[in-house]
Amino acid sequence: MNILIINAGSSSLKFQLLNGKFEPLYKGIVDGIGKEKCFVKYNDKTYKKKIRNHEQAVKEALAIIGNIKINAIGHRVVHGGEKYKDAILIDARVQREIEKLSELAPLHNPPNLEGIKACKKLLKDVPNIAVFDTAFHQTIPEQAYTYAIPQKYYKKYGIRRYGFHGTSHKYVADETYRLLGQSNRPGQPPRPGQPPRPGKKIGKIITCHLGNGSSISAVKNGNCIDTSMGFTPLEGVPMGTRSGSIDPAIVYYLMEKEGLTHDEIDNILNKKSGILAVSGFSNDLRDIWVKAKKKNKHALFTLDYMAYKIAMKIGSYAAALDGIDAITFTAGIGQNAWYLRRDICKYLKHLGVRLDPQKNRKSKERIYDKISKVKVFVIKTNEGLQIAKEVKKIINR
Ligand code: ADP
Repeated sequence: MNILIINAGSSSLKFQLLNGKFEPLYKGIVDGIGKEKCFVKYNDKTYKKKIRNHEQAVKEALAIIGNIKINAIGHRVVHGGEKYKDAILIDARVQREIEKLSELAPLHNPPNLEGIKACKKLLKDVPNIAVFDTAFHQTIPEQAYTYAIPQKYYKKYGIRRYGFHGTSHKYVADETYRLLGQSNRPGQPPRPGQPPRPGKKIGKIITCHLGNGSSISAVKNGNCIDTSMGFTPLEGVPMGTRSGSIDPAIVYYLMEKEGLTHDEIDNILNKKSGILAVSGFSNDLRDIWVKAKKKNKHALFTLDYMAYKIAMKIGSYAAALDGIDAITFTAGIGQNAWYLRRDICKYLKHLGVRLDPQKNRKSKERIYDKISKVKVFVIKTNEGLQIAKEVKKIINR
């Protein structure tokens, strides 16, 4: 079975073709849809080509893939609201629902839909499956998803915590359970002579997806019980250019003082804040590290600031989970920035977290010391593979 994965953004379309063993056959991107400068990249090739819309972008991807039969298509869809707790086969009703949910994700669901429509048109008999970024977080309890504002707004507009990056959190959580050995008792390796227990997910873990956008989730026995992003991806820990959680009163105070429009304050909080604002020079942690090594005080402050904020979130999830068996770091920063992992874990000593400095420095899969009470992992996220797994489950059903 060959599965095509489509991730359609506002001006880009990422695609990936995986075979039945989930081995990647093609991986590419059409970058700059509707723009003058548009590039097509796949495997190790790049060329320039003007692509007007998402349908043309899908056509281009199909031309690259050539004659290989496609059995199913998995679409990354950002918002599934409260309706979708799992991936689902897209029929006319589901397509309408995704369209309706555009109200909650106006920048993301509309291009996701364009990708779906294009595939339906160009590959008529191939089933399309939606895999939602919010689905994994649909298990979070009411106390975690409720905002303390008049509840009529929840009923009227669906204002609640949804959480994002769910596909990545689910993937790395499942990998963490695998590395924990699926043992019967939390945090314990399988008893000698006994095989791991496949399928059982027992243990309290915290998954840290730290990339340009960052979110942290608390996962208990396979189910997400809390997550740091909220009604939108703006809430939570500070990110590359997003502020993360701030006092909401700052928003209307600034709007009044600076005479800002809705779009201007939105732009400040989403594009001009976070690491970029705290450092004053870059949103990319690699740049911060280069200057921190030269003892630049803004860079050093930014690193400590990020470590503090992330550790505080992990600490609050240790309370939500009533203890932790494992912490997993993933995405661009989580997988690479050993110095940030080191600084985060320094704040978590009271929870019994101890890193092995050499293993951490080399970003090994297991970076904890023998005496650590909490296992700490570095796992490369793979959202494409997770989407393919969900697609296969639905097709086999
Ligand atoms: P996205 O969140 O857009 O999916 P990624 O997960 O790829 O992106 O993360 C991108 C971010 O990861 C970059 O902005 C950069 O700050 C950070 N990053 C990437 N590589 C490294 C590295 N080697 N060291 C530190 N940070 C890195």
